[in-house]
Amino acid sequence: MGGSVEIMPHPDAVVLSFAWRAAETETWCSVEQRVPLTTTPVHFGGARKWFRCTSTAGCGRRCALLYFNGREGFNCRRCCKLAYMTQSENPRFRAIIRAQRARQRLGAGPNLLDPLPERRPRYMHRHTFARLWGRALLAAERCWSMQRPWRPPQRRDARGRFLSADAEVTDNSRRRSPYSRARQ
Ligand SMILES: [Zn+2]
Repeated sequence: MGGSVEIMPHPDAVVLSFAWRAAETETWCSVEQRVPLTTTPVHFGGARKWFRCTSTAGCGRRCALLYFNGREGFNCRRCCKLAYMTQSENPRFRAIIRAQRARQRLGAGPNLLDPLPERRPRYMHRHTFARLWGRALLAAERCWSMQRPWRPPQRRDARGRFLSADAEVTDNSRRRSPYSRARQ
């Protein structure tokens, strides 16, 4: 989520507008979320206002606070917690977190593809350094092993032989790209 959340109050709802993107590489999309309000009577007269959770799980709970829940927008705490739990139950996600924590203690960035630091951080015992190195490597290894393998699309000729990279450039489907069209 980026920037601020604008809140427009209505008698029976608030409309939240904010910009959101799924990942740093994704484009921003502006979201408008209508959250209905509900009231409960207060002992000495008057009424207390609540949000009504609009999560797609069909929660509908009354809540005093809303939390950001990614694609879902703002939801009650329980719905956000559920989303977090399903994520953390994923073994690959756990492996990533484990590797990143070890990397952080070693003074490295969170990207598992970046090399681990050669030099031990000041005040860190060398046994701890070695243990964290091992942990970071193992967790990263575990994470890769659980990743669905990705292969570049292979083109074959009529006989089923793989076309070489040179052959691919002259392939018809490549001619449709604006780059090749500009050159032709
Ligand atoms: Zn909810």
